Amino acid sequence: IIDPGDDALRIAITRKKDRPLSDTSPILLWFRRDLRLSDHPALSAACKTGRPVIPVFILDDLVKGLGAAPKWRLGLGLENLSDALADKGSRLILRRGAALPVLRELIEQTGAGTVYWTRAYDPDSMARDTSVKQTLKHDGIQAQSFGGHLMFEPWTVETGQGSYYKVYTPFWNAVKGRDVDTPLPTPGKIQPPETWPQSDNLGDWQMAQAMQRGAKIVRPYVRLGESAAQARLGAFMAHRVADYVDDRNRPDVDGTSGLSENLALGEISPQQCWHAGIRAREEGKRGAETFLKELVWREFAYHLMYHTPRILTDNWREDWNAFPWNEDQRRAEVQAWKHARTGIRFVDAGLREMYVTGRMHNRARMVVASYLTKHLMCHWKIGMRWFEDCLIDWDPASNAMGWQWSAGSGPDATPYFRVFNPVTQLKKFDPDGIYAKSWIAEDRQTPTDTALSYFDAVPRRWGLSAQDSYPEPVVSASDGREKALQAYENRDF
Ligand code: FAD
Repeated sequence: IIDPGDDALRIAITRKKDRPLSDTSPILLWFRRDLRLSDHPALSAACKTGRPVIPVFILDDLVKGLGAAPKWRLGLGLENLSDALADKGSRLILRRGAALPVLRELIEQTGAGTVYWTRAYDPDSMARDTSVKQTLKHDGIQAQSFGGHLMFEPWTVETGQGSYYKVYTPFWNAVKGRDVDTPLPTPGKIQPPETWPQSDNLGDWQMAQAMQRGAKIVRPYVRLGESAAQARLGAFMAHRVADYVDDRNRPDVDGTSGLSENLALGEISPQQCWHAGIRAREEGKRGAETFLKELVWREFAYHLMYHTPRILTDNWREDWNAFPWNEDQRRAEVQAWKHARTGIRFVDAGLREMYVTGRMHNRARMVVASYLTKHLMCHWKIGMRWFEDCLIDWDPASNAMGWQWSAGSGPDATPYFRVFNPVTQLKKFDPDGIYAKSWIAEDRQTPTDTALSYFDAVPRRWGLSAQDSYPEPVVSASDGREKALQAYENRDF
């Protein structure tokens, strides 16, 4: 566990173990996907000790490997957190490298005796954190993880048979009556250390590098940071939650909370959203219960990822392994789908909304995913990775669950015979054509600004122009449905 190449550090830290740690040694607060100061159990616990707190963020391989949009959005989130900490007389120390050696170096430089962080649940982060914890403890450092990213720790929700849940409704029934922790206030004071360790410059990390032309187009749509998230939650509870039951299905209406990008980076906690939902329910607001259920879909996704991490990489239902998915990224249909030029308006509108705003309405996500995996019979992994590159609200658990649900290969998935018809779906959920008009510019005399902005966001090498004619469908709604149903019915897989 101890890096054998780092002898000098190891000896120094091992010696520290023999010394009694004074109560005044600093605490390293290792921020990851928990970029907030309120309702932050690890930060509150650190501040409560009265000891100096050194907030740190580490650019390790997991962060480096993020998709273009999530990485850029994380960079913005870090800048915002840094400002929020500065307002409290604190600082965000930025370091790059593998987490363990970076933390050990910081411990050596600052005399810290403790490292706190908020738990993560994806398998790569868990493997990293387990090794960090074991090694630091071996070094004589107090290393402790805290909750805060979820309301219900995945190992605390069990079926009557002591297993994990594979279906959402019983999961909801199991958790809906539980007490959810009351949100913690922002600490009054974050004690600074006597001297601050050196920090990288965020600009040098080039978090926006892979965004190319998209960054300036997406930026106005970002709701950045903790205060914006709290304002959005407040506005949603005041104006939109009452009609949420119906409006949440309408991509032409701003009827949802829009909090996913903040939840993804921990700029707001699920507990803060939950308690606001409970208050709205007590006030008799009709959509509040549905909102609580949606928050629990997020928890369910994490429950599944924790208990079956293969949901990120393999068909969750193994009987789908023999399904003849098309996995060739270079196929014309896949390119048409990625470039939002399938000739199916709902699909193209959804994919363009994502490219311009970094987000996509949930109904559109289901429609574009169904079209790729069913009509085009392409592997869900192709779509999952595309979302991973384009979404500012990218979340490993919800994205994988959403894709496998749509494809039919996941737990509690949409049944194989349920092939969304993207044409009738558009008529039903965008009856006045507002959503389609917002995103499709071709063949219109006066395209909307949002529709035109898609052409400014996409890479020039795609060769797209708003003056092109709108394409014929690469696969029509009815042909695709026939083909998909036939493949499923020849279920020799
Ligand atoms: P609201 O309707 O206001 O819901 C409140 C919160 O509940 C959301 O912010 C979210 O945290 C949670 N929630 C709502 N619906 C779902 C759901 N179906 N699954 C899990 N949690 C949910 N969500 C992500 O946050 N990141 C993703 O990468 C992601 N990828 C998806 C991919 C596919 C193919 C599909 C079908 C869904 C995906 N979702 C993802 C779920 C959902 O589309 C978004 O959470 C939702 O659109 C976010 O908008 P909102 O914040 O306005 O949601």
